[in-house]
Amino acid sequence: MNDFRADLHCHSTFSDGTCTPQELIELAIKLGLKGLSITDHDTTLAYTVALPYSQDRQFDLIPGIEFSASHEGESVHVLGYAFPPFHPQIIDLCAQHSLRRDFRNKEILKRLSSIGIPLTLEDVEQSSGSKLETIGRPHIANALVKRGYVSTIKDAFRLYLGEGKSAYVKGSAISVEKTLETLHAANGLAFIAHPHLIDNPRLKFQLLDMNFDGLEAYYGTFNREENERWVNIARKKGWLMSGGSDFHGDIKPNVSLGSSWVSQEHFDLLKQLYLKNIE
Ligand code: AMP
Ligand code: FE
Ligand code: FE
Ligand code: ZN
Repeated sequence: MNDFRADLHCHSTFSDGTCTPQELIELAIKLGLKGLSITDHDTTLAYTVALPYSQDRQFDLIPGIEFSASHEGESVHVLGYAFPPFHPQIIDLCAQHSLRRDFRNKEILKRLSSIGIPLTLEDVEQSSGSKLETIGRPHIANALVKRGYVSTIKDAFRLYLGEGKSAYVKGSAISVEKTLETLHAANGLAFIAHPHLIDNPRLKFQLLDMNFDGLEAYYGTFNREENERWVNIARKKGWLMSGGSDFHGDIKPNVSLGSSWVSQEHFDLLKQLYLKNIE
């Protein structure tokens, strides 16, 4: 019981991670994790392969997602768990995100081109070495590195792709409210992702007043004291707690799978809900 650790936040090749869902599950087993949720940005497609694979390996996997949302013009990440991954309303919101990304990616490439950096969607796919299901800024950043325009992904964000930079495009937004509504309609639970990273105090307060079920108290490489603050806030509100590494593989080499995790009581709660949801 005591050595139970489950990582509830990581990304696969179906979004901007560099490990396939099968590789994530194998890595989790190798590291001694007892549970996992793959939380790709705006897609549940990883579960087409991850669910059968986890069953074969008799490994506990709970469906999850990290939705990109927006509140008063600011970006907010919402983690969802324990819903049936191909619930029609989840699929529908993922499709809206896919359209949003297609439009935004084209705009980003137009801007890059206008400042003397010609890059096509084909270049972006080629640089990643595989067919991409979801294209996001990290993939464009990777292409900029591979083509020698910048030396690191961080630099690509710092110089071109980050908020307010020359090739930054906000794109259309999907609200936090709409995201919560969708997750709840699919019988899922919604958590504020990495509240540690929200700088704007007003946004923090507003989110804590919304219809979330919990927050991601244990995150990434944050230490015990920094997580403790969020544990206390969750307790005070009577909210659930989630936790995970936000592992992306080689794209974020300083973060390892299992660097943050939740204990069995938190994991079992999600697992019971998921099992009930697919009865
Ligand atoms: P997108 O969803 O296309 O807007 O891309 C957002 C993703 O880009 C985040 O989830 C991170 O994985 C990554 N990202 C954002 N800012 C940075 C940064 N400064 N350096 C590296 N990766 C970043
Ligand atoms: Fe990411
Ligand atoms: Fe995030
Ligand atoms: Zn993430």
